[in-house]
Amino acid sequence: MTIRHGSYPMAWALAALLALCLPAWSQGRSPTPEEYVEHTGGEATIIPPGEFKLDGIPLYCGTRPTVIDNNLDDYGAAYPGFLIMNMKYLNRVSTPVKLWIYSHECGHQFRGPDEETADCFAVQRGRRMGWLSPGGVEEICKFIAPAKGDSMHFSGSYRCEYMRQCFTEHRLR
Ligand SMILES: [Zn+2]
Repeated sequence: MTIRHGSYPMAWALAALLALCLPAWSQGRSPTPEEYVEHTGGEATIIPPGEFKLDGIPLYCGTRPTVIDNNLDDYGAAYPGFLIMNMKYLNRVSTPVKLWIYSHECGHQFRGPDEETADCFAVQRGRRMGWLSPGGVEEICKFIAPAKGDSMHFSGSYRCEYMRQCFTEHRLR
């Protein structure tokens, strides 16, 4: 039940590496949504920005489209420039958790690969937009509780504590 991010950090690392080492390849970029869909054999679909909804709630991530890929091995993922959502998994979780997952992936778009920053972005956005209550934060905590800490992802309980703080902070980031 961890939230992973496809090859998002790798895409950035690769782009940086290519820019540094192979100027001829400095176009080294992450896939476009169309390339991603092609890679799935056409099974994924692209939802234009502003048209994606979860449980009837429209969700935006600037002008970025959402790709629905129900074969993704996780709930959601992000490439620079678009978000990927697995509706098969998302349909198993409550509305606040769904919206938090989308907003977490969106947080990566605006704030980069750091997990805690993306978590904080998501809960503050939820509070601002009115879909996240303190009870919703606890639902998210239960959702990420089994996540084991590793070098990239701090343990679920640590992330949870940080999110509770972010949620109650007066200053919105
Ligand atoms: Zn993340």
